[in-house]
Amino acid sequence: MIVRESYDVIVIGAGPAGSTTATLLADAGHSVLLLEKSRFPRHHIGESLMPHTYHTFKRIGMLDKLKASLFPTKESVQFVNAEGRDSRPYYFTDRDPHECSRTWQVRRDVFDEMMFANAAEHGVETHQEVQVRRVVFDDGRAVGVEAKIGETTATINGRVIVDATGMNTLLARQLDLRRPDPHLKHAAIYGYFRNAQRDSGRNAGATIVISTPEGNGWFWSIPLSDEVTSVGVVAPPAYLTTGRGADPARTLDEEIAKAPGIAKRLENAERVGEVRVTSDFSYRATRIAGPGWVLVGDAFGFLDPLYSSGVMLALTSGEMAADTIDDALRADDLSADRLGAFGPRFVAAMHLIKQLVHAFYDRDFSFSAFMKAHPEFQDHLVRILIGDVFNDEVGAIFDKMRDWTSLPEPMPLETTAPRDSAKAAT
Ligand SMILES: Cc1cc2nc3c(=O)[nH]c(=O)nc-3n(C[C@H](O)[C@H](O)[C@H](O)COP(=O)(O)OP(=O)(O)OC[C@H]3O[C@@H](n4cnc5c(N)ncnc54)[C@H](O)[C@@H]3O)c2cc1C
Repeated sequence: MIVRESYDVIVIGAGPAGSTTATLLADAGHSVLLLEKSRFPRHHIGESLMPHTYHTFKRIGMLDKLKASLFPTKESVQFVNAEGRDSRPYYFTDRDPHECSRTWQVRRDVFDEMMFANAAEHGVETHQEVQVRRVVFDDGRAVGVEAKIGETTATINGRVIVDATGMNTLLARQLDLRRPDPHLKHAAIYGYFRNAQRDSGRNAGATIVISTPEGNGWFWSIPLSDEVTSVGVVAPPAYLTTGRGADPARTLDEEIAKAPGIAKRLENAERVGEVRVTSDFSYRATRIAGPGWVLVGDAFGFLDPLYSSGVMLALTSGEMAADTIDDALRADDLSADRLGAFGPRFVAAMHLIKQLVHAFYDRDFSFSAFMKAHPEFQDHLVRILIGDVFNDEVGAIFDKMRDWTSLPEPMPLETTAPRDSAKAAT
């Protein structure tokens, strides 16, 4: 089944981050093994993309496949206040009419399988239903993985091990690097609705973010096909899940009934399929790489679903990590410093989005008042909303926003492996 005893790179997890990293490293001529514990198609949340994903899709050969898909096109994001009053949508193409300002709302069971198949087309050796139990270390350096394949457990060797296991955070847990964000302690309850009310024209494919009447959270409404809309509510678990009983569908219905902005959109809709709950999803690892290993996507960290940045960050970290790993393999230098060279730039971009997330959750801060007072930052805001965060310029908005609300300090990125974390790894 597994063809070789040893690979240049083993990627654990075939979400957007893992498939991207694997595809680009195979394109660069390396032997790459991609291991996924589930069998596709499998459910996953994270359906609304940011336009900035365009550039990675183009590079990995997914752009034409997405254009040919049935996924709805997303051209805007719209915010609705707690009373149900719609704001003017942010149209991405108003800023730049190029096609890179449009993106898609994707069913992740379909999208992730497309990405996985695309990796195989690029020469990645792909396997489903193979669960990696742990990363194997030798003298502090990652040298392979122990994986469950059918009824047996096998050790497979790799020069570089990429953890792309999403919120499972396999390696960050193994090395005790995972740190929850105490200021973003949220839960989400979500489901799917047929015949929800939609806008027409350019805003038909919009992600709509609707504040809850209590001001402690928000709903998303994401069109996934002509008929089906994804709807979820995000709020502190102390409010949303604790003491609310064992039926999340009931809680979701109760929350919808309270919020005019979503209730009116679902007036004639019926719920289809399962209602799901997820919580404690905001965290980050203290390091992004070590000797022979790299973390990408949610396996490194996840901010908050508010601005739909998760898949964009997964794709971009996969792309940045792949380029760095390619350089490191060619130089035969698989040190923490070399493999983690992309970390500071990636973390700085993540921090820009994190600051915008924190501002949203500050009940005393009003985005519209801020934007009215500082229209010169409109372009900065839209650039963050499209995911154009890998540059220094857009951060200027926060120099001013800091006068209006308290913003988080960046979480430092550790670079040198503490000796005892290497011990924990073995
Ligand atoms: C409530 C909520 C709403 C969200 N909404 C959005 C949104 O609208 N837009 C957006 O961009 N993002 C959204 N996200 C975030 C998005 O889901 C993630 O950021 C994105 O999926 C990360 O991609 P990834 O490849 O890093 O991880 P994943 O997509 O989670 O992929 C990880 C893969 O690894 C596999 N795996 C795990 N453990 C193992 C193992 N031990 N061995 C082998 N395989 C393994 C898993 O089966 C999975 O296929 C949302 C998140 C939440 C919690």
